[in-house]
Amino acid sequence: MTVGVDVAVAHQEAVDAVRRGLSELPPGAPVRLRKKTSNLFRFRGGEGGLAVDGLDRVLSVDPEARTADVQGMTTYEDLVAATLPHGLMPLVVPQLKTITLGGAVVGLGIESTSFRNGLPHESVLEADVLTGTGEILRTARDELPDLLAGLPNSYGTLGYALRLRIELAPVRPFVRLRHVRFGSAEETAKALAEVTATREWAGERVDFCDGTVFSADEHYVTLGEMVDSAPYLSDYTGQGIYYRSIQERDSDHLTIHDYLWRWDTDWFWCSRALGVQHPVVRRLWPSRYRRSDVYRRLVALDRRVGLSQAIARRSGAAGVEPIIQDVEVPVERLPEFLAFFHDEIGISPVWLCPLRQRRTERSGAAQTPDRPRWPLYPLDPDATYVNVGFWSDAELAPGQAPDHHNRRIEQVLLTMDGHKSLYSTASYPRDEFDALYGGATYRELKARYDPDGRLPDLYTKTVTG
Ligand SMILES: Cc1cc2nc3c(=O)[nH]c(=O)nc-3n(C[C@H](O)[C@H](O)[C@H](O)COP(=O)(O)OP(=O)(O)OC[C@H]3O[C@@H](n4cnc5c(N)ncnc54)[C@H](O)[C@@H]3O)c2cc1C
Repeated sequence: MTVGVDVAVAHQEAVDAVRRGLSELPPGAPVRLRKKTSNLFRFRGGEGGLAVDGLDRVLSVDPEARTADVQGMTTYEDLVAATLPHGLMPLVVPQLKTITLGGAVVGLGIESTSFRNGLPHESVLEADVLTGTGEILRTARDELPDLLAGLPNSYGTLGYALRLRIELAPVRPFVRLRHVRFGSAEETAKALAEVTATREWAGERVDFCDGTVFSADEHYVTLGEMVDSAPYLSDYTGQGIYYRSIQERDSDHLTIHDYLWRWDTDWFWCSRALGVQHPVVRRLWPSRYRRSDVYRRLVALDRRVGLSQAIARRSGAAGVEPIIQDVEVPVERLPEFLAFFHDEIGISPVWLCPLRQRRTERSGAAQTPDRPRWPLYPLDPDATYVNVGFWSDAELAPGQAPDHHNRRIEQVLLTMDGHKSLYSTASYPRDEFDALYGGATYRELKARYDPDGRLPDLYTKTVTG
């Protein structure tokens, strides 16, 4: 892969600067990234941090080898803009434009290609990682493979990925969508399992698959097929709202670009809470601000000033509990999980995304090449899972702990061989956490790559804060 001389020099300067920055942070000062955007839902920031300027570019795209060399803080918005002109896309493109490649690899992105391509870390061929020792280590399937295997779900606590080489996949210009309705969670789970196993539905190819649950008897599985021409094109970046179209039509056509970003314009459906879906507000709201990162900043502001909490208390509740979670359950347990969820939590809509570990010789660090294991987020390589995403508030009754619902979800997941992502709040006790997220392996990796504990510990970072 050829990287232009200017680009290579600029990259090396940025790498040297971040390495220097780490060595100059006073001993004991907390190490965290200082970057313009984040999609974490733990608002525990503060001043300072490690500047990572100049590490947010695509270094090169190799259309022949179908790979890209990408700096760790590059957003998927920029990554997709660099690959689509070559007729290529990353194997998994998380839905929110400002999610970065490094963030998706260490924090587990997921999307509608995950039923065939697994998760973003499974298409990383190599990475340069600034570890807690201040060294920059290259990791690949045949070079320090334990580090590559340990990156997913490490959330920057073993090191920061400064450059990654990833695989790309060919695309066609348009996506034909089918929104297939199911009346029950059982039928929906069966359909997701069948599409994952056969990559077809009703005899037609499926390239993309996700689902939306509006209520216990209204589920949709959305199936996308890449095509070379389209009879018409819809646009959900203006007055139209993508998630509502799922209920309103059986089929649709989008450009591949608009398909990949279909959920960002309204942050799935979460822009609703900010009034952006009201026709009058929507007309007045500048289109360049209809983006997930803008809404997230507004939510961060609300958390700081406590407006939602105050409103809930005025209406008699003990407060509201933010429930911003993505969880994974084996596909056969999906009906059971949804029944619990409708009964006790009651948030809607809910996003579904089938997921299966990728099977390929190229898919990353492995004990055996075609069945890699990712010890900090262990999944059964032979199982199909469904990611269930729900992002809203629930009212608390008097006497309920501030994390009442989130803790209940964790407990129920434990009974269903389920996991949850750690980008938001987590309350697991240490022993449960260690059992779920490879605690023993993590401690070995931490001792090897950050022996002085310069970077935060995973449990502290994701649970206790
Ligand atoms: C409402 C909501 C819905 C979501 N839905 C989805 C979804 O559907 N699909 C999906 O894919 N994801 C989803 N996410 C989760 C998102 O992918 C993760 O939060 C991801 O880690 C965010 O990446 P980021 O680039 O914004 O990283 P940041 O938020 O900046 O950082 C995330 C963590 O990764 C670390 N980190 C960042 N960059 C690097 C690096 N280069 N090397 C090492 N460590 C690094 C940081 O230290 C931090 O701990 C959702 C999040 C929210 C809030």
